[in-house]
Amino acid sequence: MYIGIDDTDSVKGGCTTYLASEIIREFQEYDVIGYPRLVRLNPNIPWKTRGNGAVSVRLGEGVGKRFLIGEIGNKRYYGYIRGNENTIHDTTKIMNKMNKIFEKYAFFDDRNTNPAFVIMEKKPTPGLYWDAVRKIVNLDYVKKILKQNNATYHGYKNMRGLIGATSAVSWRPKDKTYEIITYREKKRWGSKRNVNEESVIKMDKKFPFTFNNYDYKNKKLIIAPSSPCPVLFGIRGDDPELINPMKTIKSEKIDRYVIFETNQGTDEHLQKKKIRSIKAYDSVIAKGKIISKPKTIIGGHVIFPISENNHQIDCAAYEPTKNFRNLIRGLVKDDAVTVFGGVREKPLTVNIEKIKIEKLSEVYEKIIPVCPECGKKMKSIGKNQGYRCRRCGIKTKEIETKKIEREIKTGFYGVPVCARRHLSKPLKRF
Ligand code: ZN
Repeated sequence: MYIGIDDTDSVKGGCTTYLASEIIREFQEYDVIGYPRLVRLNPNIPWKTRGNGAVSVRLGEGVGKRFLIGEIGNKRYYGYIRGNENTIHDTTKIMNKMNKIFEKYAFFDDRNTNPAFVIMEKKPTPGLYWDAVRKIVNLDYVKKILKQNNATYHGYKNMRGLIGATSAVSWRPKDKTYEIITYREKKRWGSKRNVNEESVIKMDKKFPFTFNNYDYKNKKLIIAPSSPCPVLFGIRGDDPELINPMKTIKSEKIDRYVIFETNQGTDEHLQKKKIRSIKAYDSVIAKGKIISKPKTIIGGHVIFPISENNHQIDCAAYEPTKNFRNLIRGLVKDDAVTVFGGVREKPLTVNIEKIKIEKLSEVYEKIIPVCPECGKKMKSIGKNQGYRCRRCGIKTKEIETKKIEREIKTGFYGVPVCARRHLSKPLKRF
């Protein structure tokens, strides 16, 4: 049996992953099969709440080897590599329990929060996940899938949470990563977090399979959120062995922790697109040549247009990408690049997450000639008109140029860790 949940948090607090820990605690009569899953969906959806993450947990009767998935209320919880397929579940009982958990922890008063959960015996088509991570999925389409799969579900308010909840269940991991999420004691929710910066740096250096821990350029720890949610910190890694990294962090008391399997850091939201077919809310990988030098606009954002076969689109490195903008400012006309990023609607712009500088154009500088008579620098007569010596009146039409050494190099560049999106694959993982 799969339980999918989504959209239970708001800007004022809450966290869908915390609800997952409550589900694990409340359904102790079941085993968890595999790891609980945290599935990030299309980051460009305009009505999303924060990170657009949904969660799924498989419950049942565990078979085979087991592994630690978390500790909640001083009790250790395990996941099993397989589940007994023949177990029959009392769906009404599960539904009632889920309603109780939601009423206690989901945020209903936020205009943009539309909580939902689904209970399914079978996984829906994997195509649903791919649509939900890359496109905008229609609620009626999801309701049809739920009906076809005989699912039990509850969508509150406008029911939009059903899209994420069902999509999370439909995910079949190909590339995957893990995140250990630690939670704060209830009495501290909303107050300033105490997570020691030096211990984060120490952990980052000691465990190279972890990522997005610390932004060295901007001197900022990334593992702890700044929202009033119950999360204390989360450590991401290629490997589920995240207990030791967690223990390296010095912080306030950890109330509970859960290890999630996730699609974070996989770039699965991105798809290769020709510039002419890019639409709003897509996340794209697009090739093009730079049409004109990047410009800095009000607010510190850096914008430049690229083109391919006479179709063009603007690309942007926004202010929060900090020092990444200096790299972008070094690009010039005719440089060939591949941009990776989400597309905003108005004006249609690719918000760069990563850039691959494929080929640098050759830039030449005119050499001002020296007068053959007096040795002084000659002056320009006008554009492409040549030079003249002011003293001797000698003219020359020949214009010599020299190639300028470009400061930037070809290769892959990403925005700093502090501006990185959950789904964005860190360069370290390539
Ligand atoms: Zn002269």
